[in-house]
Amino acid sequence: MTRKERYEGITGWFQANMPEAKSELDYMNGYELLVAVILSAQCTDKRVNMVTPAFFKRFPDAVSLAGADFDEVLRLISSISFPNNKARHLIGMARMLTERFGGIIPEDVETMQQLPGVGRKTANVVASIIYRKPVIAVDTHVFRVARRIGLSDGKTVEAVEADLTAGFPERLRADAHHWLILHGRYVCTARKPKCDGCGISAYCREHKKAGPADRP
Ligand code: SF4
Repeated sequence: MTRKERYEGITGWFQANMPEAKSELDYMNGYELLVAVILSAQCTDKRVNMVTPAFFKRFPDAVSLAGADFDEVLRLISSISFPNNKARHLIGMARMLTERFGGIIPEDVETMQQLPGVGRKTANVVASIIYRKPVIAVDTHVFRVARRIGLSDGKTVEAVEADLTAGFPERLRADAHHWLILHGRYVCTARKPKCDGCGISAYCREHKKAGPADRP
């Protein structure tokens, strides 16, 4: 099977079976999404969703967060991984957003990365969701799943992102990001992928290579 056929096969399956794929983070607007994505680095969406209601009640917008007291922010996000760094980043992000960008999250992913705590992955996630930019954020799930299926042989996040960007049509890239994340989170898990119940196994390179006893 060619790589093009794999892309077409899994695209067809996900469009039929996961047409409404979206982020599992809870948010009401771009500001809330940006905060939630910053908090979600090396932390589960479930844990972030437990913290953000109280956080957004106290800091409903970038202006209020820009003037926040560090210790108060830290207290509110103390159950999240790396709370010290993230508290510093959140306040810094809100200050830059209000002072330099007039409170508007930049559409351009390169510009968005000037905000503290916003790396390429975070910028791609936010831009693809709130601006429907045709970019694909590669997190640990996307990286693993793309290489297992055979959508990419890239050895770096940048190389996998480039292959996925070339492989999925522009209008489907935002959806493809969610498809691969959710598939990696619930089916093609890191330690024990559920190959026997996997809907895209017919298009998966690893599934074809391995026998039932030694599938990844
Ligand atoms: S067949 Fe197995 S390795 Fe391939 S995508 Fe499905 S769960 Fe992952």
